[in-house]
Amino acid sequence: MEMLKIFVAGCWREGRGEEMSSTFPADGSLNARLRAASVEDVNEAVEAAEQAWRAASWRHQLPHQRATILHRVSELITQQVEELAQLQSRDNGKPLAETRALVLSAAGTARYFAAACEVLEGELPTQRNRDVLTLSQYQPLGVIAAITPWNSPIASEMQKIAPALAAGNAVVLKPAEATPLIALKLAELFEQAGLPAGLLSVLPGRGSVIGEALVRHPLVKKISFTGGTNTGRHLAHIAAEKLIPTSLELGGKSPTIVLEDADIELAARGICYGIFSSAGQACIAGSRLFVHRSLYQPLLERLCQLTAGLRIGDPFTPGVHLGPLINHKHRQTVIDYVNLAKQEGGKILIGGEIPADPQLAQGSYFQPTIIEGLSNQARVCQEEIFGPVLVVMPFDDQAQLIEQANDSVYGLAAGIWSRDFTRAMAVAEQLEAGTVWVNTYKTFSIATPFGGFKQSGLGREKGLHGIHAYMQQKSLYLSLNHQPNGWSD
Ligand code: ADP
Repeated sequence: MEMLKIFVAGCWREGRGEEMSSTFPADGSLNARLRAASVEDVNEAVEAAEQAWRAASWRHQLPHQRATILHRVSELITQQVEELAQLQSRDNGKPLAETRALVLSAAGTARYFAAACEVLEGELPTQRNRDVLTLSQYQPLGVIAAITPWNSPIASEMQKIAPALAAGNAVVLKPAEATPLIALKLAELFEQAGLPAGLLSVLPGRGSVIGEALVRHPLVKKISFTGGTNTGRHLAHIAAEKLIPTSLELGGKSPTIVLEDADIELAARGICYGIFSSAGQACIAGSRLFVHRSLYQPLLERLCQLTAGLRIGDPFTPGVHLGPLINHKHRQTVIDYVNLAKQEGGKILIGGEIPADPQLAQGSYFQPTIIEGLSNQARVCQEEIFGPVLVVMPFDDQAQLIEQANDSVYGLAAGIWSRDFTRAMAVAEQLEAGTVWVNTYKTFSIATPFGGFKQSGLGREKGLHGIHAYMQQKSLYLSLNHQPNGWSD
């Protein structure tokens, strides 16, 4: 099999680092082999990015010219949704229906930030002094290090590349070890769309080697990271030493809450989708469920019925709900958590096993699993499992509910199910979470900011926050009176 080329400083060539491969999680078959980037490749990409963003040909482009490139990329993505979705599914094993949606969302992200850079405005602060005019402007930061995980690469990569370029920066992207394919494809599309050389490099490689060298490079002026909380904390230390900004989109242990007046059918469907889509491999997965005791039995009955009806299988088979987990090592972590839950006194209501179907034997599949009988203090309620595992707990009163829902180091998202919006809003207001959904879950809009409270992250992506995150503000004072300043004679 031919070695895949990586994209360094505008050139397609083999990396100078170790050999890596991408495999299909459903059966372990090889998708691609490549040589990863080396530290020299990192240096070359960052230096080229520095030159490219400073070049007059990029700095002096009008916003609509930068927007044109993003529009072309969006167009190119829209023309090949199926191919891109297949590529993404081969890389990370998500069902095609999910990867199609991710591809379309990436196209929408490119379009949104094309529009955002055209309407982005500076400010004319209230004038305090008639002798001076003050202006507030936004300028690019320079070279951005973007580091992404394997669970939704095309979406998370576009959420960093599009606003960073729209704001006039250059980007060096290091995709996750397991999923290099989509990032390289995106580089191809940006090149095809006319992005000048050097403004985007894609460097597959190990986080601890290539990612680390990238973020430590003195010319890198911002770290934009999506991934685990421990890695995020480590990167924040590096950023603190360098005194550069970070955007960190980290882990979660999101509560979903069913109030006593909820529509059971609506709630059960939303909860099922919220935890089991992507086989639970989502930072926003609704992994802790709190149900008012009066609805506990009927809600659980319906939830278990729906879960029993979920189809596990090859991501390319139409109608499949859960594909495999990313690899066998990760599945073992999920199994270990399920065993821990049993040791801690949890009762498995459904799932908890590797599927028996011999056709699935080669893949890293795991059954959607619901556990009850634990308190929120259990480790499976406190630690992110990143798999199809839901823990269910009854509650009696609202104050106790809020306390438990917030009893987590994480604060990424939450879901509330209630027919009474006033009550739902009162609960939403008290939840420590960056996103709260009411009577829906995992619904997104590119125009709405996204990010975490507490250890779920710092900063926001998407929306106009998403582009400001890649700019630095500058204040200008213009004298209007031609008087020398300083001491009077
Ligand atoms: P996950 O558990 O989702 O894989 P990680 O935080 O381990 O989360 O990985 C997310 C991304 O961070 C990946 O691209 C990975 O290679 C990268 N990464 C991991 N460690 C480091 C590091 N020390 N420096 C920079 N990037 C890293």
